Amino acid sequence: MFLAFYTAIFTQTIWLPKLELFEQSLYGLFVITIIFSAHFSRSRFTFLTIIFALFYITINEQLAWSSWVLAHQSWLLLSGLFIFALLSQLKERGVISAHGVSRIILFGLCGISAYAWGIAIEALIEVLKVNQFTSKWDHYLLLELPILLVSLLLFWRSIATANLVVVALFISSIVWCLHFYKFIELPWSVTLTVLVSYYLLVVVVESYFFAYRDELTGLPSRRALNQLALSLSNKYCVAVVDIDFFKKFNDNYGHDIGDQVLKLVASKLTNVKKGGKVFRYGGEEFCIVFPRKNTEQILTELDRIRLVIANYKMVIRSPKRKTKEQRNKAKAKTDTKKVSVNVSIGVAQKASNNSFEQTFKLADQALYKAKKSGRNKVCS
Ligand code: GH3
Ligand code: MG
Ligand code: MG
Repeated sequence: MFLAFYTAIFTQTIWLPKLELFEQSLYGLFVITIIFSAHFSRSRFTFLTIIFALFYITINEQLAWSSWVLAHQSWLLLSGLFIFALLSQLKERGVISAHGVSRIILFGLCGISAYAWGIAIEALIEVLKVNQFTSKWDHYLLLELPILLVSLLLFWRSIATANLVVVALFISSIVWCLHFYKFIELPWSVTLTVLVSYYLLVVVVESYFFAYRDELTGLPSRRALNQLALSLSNKYCVAVVDIDFFKKFNDNYGHDIGDQVLKLVASKLTNVKKGGKVFRYGGEEFCIVFPRKNTEQILTELDRIRLVIANYKMVIRSPKRKTKEQRNKAKAKTDTKKVSVNVSIGVAQKASNNSFEQTFKLADQALYKAKKSGRNKVCS
């Protein structure tokens, strides 16, 4: 975003004569972003883009309220900030739903709060002035204090949630403030083009992750594996990794702890060397593709990974207990519990006329061999 604004500011001579183009295409960009973000369940971007569109129409057209809004810049700045802060706290919900209606009311409340804040601070300053309160603090109380608080909140939420939408809200709040303080001296049409394009990019990136990443482990999914299979050369190896007795593990420790173990196994597998690409194939099965390798080149590496997983003692966090008594009871039992799992691995190398599916099948047969011969093994 920094680069985008830097470029926009320093290439003004090029695009300024074509500013009208930006102004016209911005409406199209608003519509596309609204439809796209609503379709991919990123309702926070949908609402934000609608609000920006309303703001843009308000400052560009002679609407009944335009002059009032333009005359109340501090209110505008604060309202925007409060909306960013509010959106960072909300969950993604359908736009056209009961949640959508309650959100519109909440946005209205942001505007009212910003107005009330202005009045409250003015009243406070009146009182303080009687007590020789120097007027240079007025501005800090009215604007900089809420800016600081909202920025801290958004910064904290960005780190705590590690969510691209929240990060986008944080960056938007910075751009919003910098624009009002005239650190970014660009027409609103250009600033909003950059911001809204950024939202669109986030929606595209997130929907890509949604389609090609496994939610639990964060690994590429089976769909991504099928995609890779189309681009492989004539020489590669496929390894199928399956956790041993995982059903029993789930029965003993519960599905939640099973999920934690799946994540841990996934993270160990991603440390595989020799150029191996790891996928979650489904359930407790993973697939590793080694482009341009034959079986001999990867067997020791796979055995190393198998050992790393088998020797890793996982400390299981006790599930949340509702009452204090339940918590204390559970403490001695599960808090310090260490568990481990084994994996069996089957490997196959692409033979001259075999397709990816056939190679995968051979790896699966090798896996079956590993299971049959006692598990916790690599077979080819
Ligand atoms: P084997 O050694 O022969 O592979 O035995 P297994 O029990 O691992 O194999 P089986 O195919 O009978 O069971 C796989 C189990 O994996 C069943 C299911 O409970 C568990 N499982 C699959 N996906 C998930 C998941 O996403 N989370 C959790 N916690 N468990 C899963
Ligand atoms: Mg299995
Ligand atoms: Mg299994």
